Amino acid sequence: MASPGAEPSIFSRIAAREIPATIVAETDHIIAFNDIAPQAPVHVVVTTKTEQYQNVGQLAAADPALLAELVAVAERVALEHCDGEYRLIFNTGASAGQTVFHVHAHVLGGVLEEGTLAAH
Ligand code: AMP
Repeated sequence: MASPGAEPSIFSRIAAREIPATIVAETDHIIAFNDIAPQAPVHVVVTTKTEQYQNVGQLAAADPALLAELVAVAERVALEHCDGEYRLIFNTGASAGQTVFHVHAHVLGGVLEEGTLAAH
């Protein structure tokens, strides 16, 4: 959870339209936008508008309905942008590649290599 008085996360600033991004889907609680450094032909970040949860484990434990809404938005984005075929990645922790500690999923699609987990 963000500490009181902490700066809003970069994703909160995108949701507040303080930082530009190409927003591809939005609900009352979720926002999805193109990743600024795409690692696949389709690479969309899907995140909660609240930055209360740092990672998917925290979100699943505290608010499974919000996690389900996030996944539903990811599915919708994938249906629109890559025929509903996609990889959904939640990084947890710096050693797993997490750089923004505001829960989010990566929707990766297009043509991905078989038999790999990394996108590149
Ligand atoms: P992670 O490394 O799992 O924490 O994912 C953070 C993702 O946010 C990375 O793939 C970044 O490229 C992406 N990102 C960071 N800043 C922006 C931004 N301003 N607009 C869009 N995507 C961003």
